Amino acid sequence: MQYIPYGRQDINQADIDAVVAVLKSDYLTQGPMVPKFEEAVAQRCSAKHALAVNSATSALHIACMALGLGPGDWLWTSPITFVASANCGLYCGAKVDFVDIDPRTYNLCPQALARKLEQAERVGKLPKVLVPVHLCGQSCDMQAIYALAQKYGFKIIEDASHAIGGKYKGEPIGNCRYSDITVFSFHPVKIITTAEGGMCLTNNADLAKKMGLFQSHGITRDPAQMTHAWDGPWYYQQIELGYNYRMTELQAALGVSQTARLTDYVARRHQLARRYDDLLMSLPVTTPWQHPDSYSGLHLYPIRLQLEKIKRRHRQVFESLRAQGIGVNLHYIPVHTQPYYERMGFKPEEFPQAQAYYREAISLPIYQKLTNTQQDKVVEALKIAIAS
Ligand SMILES: *Cc1c(COP(=O)(O)O)cnc(C)c1O
Repeated sequence: MQYIPYGRQDINQADIDAVVAVLKSDYLTQGPMVPKFEEAVAQRCSAKHALAVNSATSALHIACMALGLGPGDWLWTSPITFVASANCGLYCGAKVDFVDIDPRTYNLCPQALARKLEQAERVGKLPKVLVPVHLCGQSCDMQAIYALAQKYGFKIIEDASHAIGGKYKGEPIGNCRYSDITVFSFHPVKIITTAEGGMCLTNNADLAKKMGLFQSHGITRDPAQMTHAWDGPWYYQQIELGYNYRMTELQAALGVSQTARLTDYVARRHQLARRYDDLLMSLPVTTPWQHPDSYSGLHLYPIRLQLEKIKRRHRQVFESLRAQGIGVNLHYIPVHTQPYYERMGFKPEEFPQAQAYYREAISLPIYQKLTNTQQDKVVEALKIAIAS
């Protein structure tokens, strides 16, 4: 039986040649490919600055650091995300809280955010940083979120790990029109890959400079940033406490090569999503709604089971699909219910929309090289899983 995963990278001969060429070159790290990849992504996304790093998790961490997040501050994000969107706040010693999701887009709900901000202002606990997550590749309602940021004075990091190649109101996600920083992930299940890898985009030169420092030990070779005169050509100064979050040349070469196919990848994902929409129309499932402002990257295609119309339980449907060789997944277990977060005092029912989503959601396979025949198998397996 052929196993169909929920997501998978696409590696072609051009990717392999690009990586091999780097292996034979002088630089395996800190050479010309990383700036080339940064330039390619910045240009595609119409952002002024791009900084490649070794993961989106690292990108989120240095983004928070550059925005000055620290002890006593709050970071808010969505409960329906990967844990990294919240953990970055804890890395900085800040506290984390969540805003419930919109029941149609599954993204952080701007109305819930407005209500929570009003309460937080009264008790003096406004967030310093908000991390809206573009779930499945569909942009959050950034205009509404940005208006609230103007009113309450918080900073915005878009977690666009799912969303490279997507658009919001006709403009590329990553242009930071409504945010301070945008973060991408290049993990192999995401839309384009560098094996591990991530990127920070910003239009703010000061934030770009800070993230550059935090990415590489807090070390500068720029005389203008030094605290006293340069000692000689060997000289550098450590002026902050940073990390080694650099991307390698091998990864960047793969990234450049993959970026060339990004438009086609997202277009294929849209074809597949439209096919799923049609094929699933008569089944007791809710297909992912697309906001008219959004052209999603379509990293994920989560359906919600209409459990009142199905004899099987959510878990039975999921297990049946897995037993039939369909590598379905669930994105995500609400972060506030993870034991580490539960210990901070969060209760599952605090974010009811997130809990309702978790009880019904199943991510069906979607990736650029999924064939129509494979997709038909997924749908047949789902029919069996629901009926039996
Ligand atoms: C994958 C993912 C991350 C983390 O990405 P890495 O590159 O694996 O560190 C963060 N946030 C979201 C929403 C993700 O899906």
